[in-house]
Amino acid sequence: MSTYLIGIDVGGTTVKIGKFLHTGELLSSYEIKTDTSDYGKNILFDIYRSLLDRNEDLSQIIGYGFGVPGPVTNNIVTQCVNLGWENYDIRERFGTLVQNKNVFVNNDANVAALGELFGGAAKGKRDVVMMTLGTGLGGGVISNSIPVEGHNGAGGEIGHIIVDLHNGRQCNCGNKGCLETIASASGIVREFNDLRAELTMPSILDKRKYISAKAIMDAAKDGDQLAMNTIDNVAFYLGYACHIISVTTNPEVIVLGGGVSRAGAFLLNKVANEFREYKFIAVHDTKIILAELGNDAGMYGAALLVLNG
Ligand SMILES: [Zn+2]
Repeated sequence: MSTYLIGIDVGGTTVKIGKFLHTGELLSSYEIKTDTSDYGKNILFDIYRSLLDRNEDLSQIIGYGFGVPGPVTNNIVTQCVNLGWENYDIRERFGTLVQNKNVFVNNDANVAALGELFGGAAKGKRDVVMMTLGTGLGGGVISNSIPVEGHNGAGGEIGHIIVDLHNGRQCNCGNKGCLETIASASGIVREFNDLRAELTMPSILDKRKYISAKAIMDAAKDGDQLAMNTIDNVAFYLGYACHIISVTTNPEVIVLGGGVSRAGAFLLNKVANEFREYKFIAVHDTKIILAELGNDAGMYGAALLVLNG
């Protein structure tokens, strides 16, 4: 009888592969390098070969879930610029290799949200939104346990909600003032530098050649006024975005993940306070919480795709 789920998180540099029980318990995991040569045509075979190299009994596998860095509709990858995949049918290609039709694919941000629902901070909940505050700002929306893909696979692109309508900075998407230009790691640094130019205020970071989002967060925790102003602005816009999300899909929890969220309760409390300023009472029990699974969330969520079917 088939017993195990395989969750596969395909990133631009590494592929993370985890073996799970249907209860969400991670039994083992490993990584292989992502070979992006030749439009990524070796990636799926490399994953298949890694399973054979580890003597996995494929007849014991219920199915395989994939999280990929790009939009997906109906298990077809629309486009993954990092990997070279375009209109790429993972189910057909990988299913043929492993002789198993239970192959499911979704966008990595949705899959990270599903992961927190399967084995992390949002375990057991059905309506969950996750914001991954990293180099960029990814979003995953889970409604009634199902990821919202949308018409073109662009559902949950929370990072591109325009929050600054007046003085917005240029975003990679072409618009100005997207949440990503303020609350991602690079956005926080831009916010700090803009405030420094505007306020001509001294900061304990003035002597640093290179300033990271983490350094700004740490300086704010130490009471540096310019850094505190920066993080207050970031929290204001994140709180506003949480409000928009809460009245759109009414999640039980909004999970903050990614490197920036390692600032922990310091950032979380500020965002939660901003969110509570909005008065729409029916969504006031939405909780803002921190992610728990870190970089493993993708594997967990990919495995859950198999159970969701
Ligand atoms: Zn944008």
